Amino acid sequence: MNILIAGGGIGGITAALCLAKDNHQVTLFEQGHAFTEAGAGIQLSPNCSRVLHYLGLEDALRSAGFLPEGTQARDWRSGRVIMDSPLGDTARQKFSTPYYHIHRGDLLELLVDAARRQAGIELRTHARIEACNDTGDGVEAQVGSTTYKGDLLIGADGIHSTVRTLLWGEQKPTFTGNVAWRALVPAGSLPEGMVRPMSTVWWGPGSHFVHYYVKGGELVNCVCVVEKEGWAIESWTEPGEYPELKSDFAGWHENIQTLIDNADHDSLYKWALYDRPPMSAWGKGSVTLLGDACHPTLPFMAQGAAMAIEDGAVLTGCLRADENVPSALQHYESLRKPRTARIQKGSRRNATVFHLSGMKAWARNLAAGKSAGNTMDGLFGYNALELLHKR
Ligand code: FAD
Repeated sequence: MNILIAGGGIGGITAALCLAKDNHQVTLFEQGHAFTEAGAGIQLSPNCSRVLHYLGLEDALRSAGFLPEGTQARDWRSGRVIMDSPLGDTARQKFSTPYYHIHRGDLLELLVDAARRQAGIELRTHARIEACNDTGDGVEAQVGSTTYKGDLLIGADGIHSTVRTLLWGEQKPTFTGNVAWRALVPAGSLPEGMVRPMSTVWWGPGSHFVHYYVKGGELVNCVCVVEKEGWAIESWTEPGEYPELKSDFAGWHENIQTLIDNADHDSLYKWALYDRPPMSAWGKGSVTLLGDACHPTLPFMAQGAAMAIEDGAVLTGCLRADENVPSALQHYESLRKPRTARIQKGSRRNATVFHLSGMKAWARNLAAGKSAGNTMDGLFGYNALELLHKR
């Protein structure tokens, strides 16, 4: 089939790779002049690294990424370890593919490199899809003054998706009241052993602080979330000031102060976190959506990009199983909507749970200590490749 994709983020490019591997011809349109992801880290859990390995990216991921030893939750003030879930050999065998921490720029680069090597993928930058039309036997997409024809169009164009607006009208996302700071800290500037090789979340009243290694352990990526009203710019590139970050985490454990003090001040950015409720329908006819375009997900389960990556694999599987495009796309939606809605809701719930105080925080810590990571089996065990492995 001849497939058009709007959007060259993690979701769009992964979908292009999955589709091209199944011998489809893909044209991907990215509105930017180049493929870029702002400089911060991302966690890739086994449910999505499974898809990336299927695409032949294991070696590239192992060389660019960092393999954490587990996850940990700590108390914001005392530093007490509330929950410690080492990713031991049993977990590694159970999920078959690893958990990676990686710099977003490195991830996008390895995806784009793989797409450039694929004869079935045409990448077009500075190409914004502005209109689309379902012609009954396919789709037309408008980019500038040129009309492109395809058998289907996938809107992988992010939280402010044009394709979604063309299908369903304007629906503004709502500000959640949370602002995420991002900072990169040179690991060499920190006391040895202070940051363990784990994904660590510090829970505090009205805020939380996540850190993990990227760039093979050279940098510590920090995502610091604070409840804040009165500032709501959604952008990875909005600079933030050191004194404001410092005051947002005043009174927190000395490790947090050391991380903030050693952060590269040119790498401090703020991002207002927006949300949308799960959609009841994603696509119409031969047009569908994927990733943040249809299920923007708060980062509190680290699953937004993972869901976008899974989407691309499941969509490819549905097209393999059914050559009738509208019915294959309906099948894709029916498989993906329940899981992505669960993750959207769970991430939203975590925004409350992570920020509890007083007795509620005490009860949360007790429950978390007992569960010690067991709750992740359903999430990480999901196999987005199921239809692709059926012959
Ligand atoms: P986007 O990355 O938004 O890409 C959309 C692309 O479409 C862009 O390149 C844009 O330029 C292009 N575009 C837009 N309109 C058009 C158009 N009309 N025509 C052509 N091109 C267009 N997820 C995880 O899995 N793990 C994590 O650890 C994690 N951490 C996060 C931390 C924070 C603080 C935040 C905010 C998010 C985090 N996420 C994480 C979520 C993850 O970043 C997103 O879910 C993911 O990047 C979405 O990818 P996407 O391809 O769907 O959309």
